[in-house]
Amino acid sequence: MTGKTFVISAPSGTGKTTVCRMLLAQDGNLRFSVSHTTRKPRQGERDGDDYYFVDEAEFNRLVDTGAFLESARYAGNLYGTSFAAIRSTLEAGQDIMLEIEVQGAQLIRDSGHDAVFIFLLPPSMATLEQRLRDRGTDTEELIKRRLREGSTEVRMSKIFDYVVVNDKLDDAVAEVQSIIEAERNGKIENARARFGVAGVMAKWQVAEN
Ligand code: 5GP
Repeated sequence: MTGKTFVISAPSGTGKTTVCRMLLAQDGNLRFSVSHTTRKPRQGERDGDDYYFVDEAEFNRLVDTGAFLESARYAGNLYGTSFAAIRSTLEAGQDIMLEIEVQGAQLIRDSGHDAVFIFLLPPSMATLEQRLRDRGTDTEELIKRRLREGSTEVRMSKIFDYVVVNDKLDDAVAEVQSIIEAERNGKIENARARFGVAGVMAKWQVAEN
């Protein structure tokens, strides 16, 4: 038996990393796909745990050898999911979670790799802006850039299977977990009705206007 692939994307500042960490901590059958990146490690990040940190030459060599299921450039750096990062987990019958940006999600869709696509949204674009400012790590220019990229990413939500709004963290985690369980059991009607893209986006955009 093979495991399932869950792809999770969100505009920067939505709290995706926190949601993913909580899911991994509570779900013993879910593993994290460690990506390759050309970005420099941030404080506390460890090679092989958070990412495989490589230079552009090495990254491009891996691209040429067909090592990646998907790869994309984001904010000036390259990111990619290698087949090696997901294969052994899936073959062991465990599920894998890919925390990636939307271009990568689109590439996986196009590749035909069987996956469940989940998109996280902030309660509104105004909250997203507030969260980016509260983080206090980015310059005004970078905040503006992230918001522009965020709007483009929101428009890409239609390629996903499910959308979850991250208003209260615990609720969002429980909701994503319920989607994961539904997909595992093959009983997805309720999850589709609650978290299907068209329905959630219609409400979100109404709230947004
Ligand atoms: P960060 O540099 O903040 O760790 O990540 C920047 C963005 O790249 C995030 O949206 C993150 O989810 C995404 N990302 C991380 N790994 C991958 C990957 O393997 N492929 C793609 N396409 N995006 C990734």
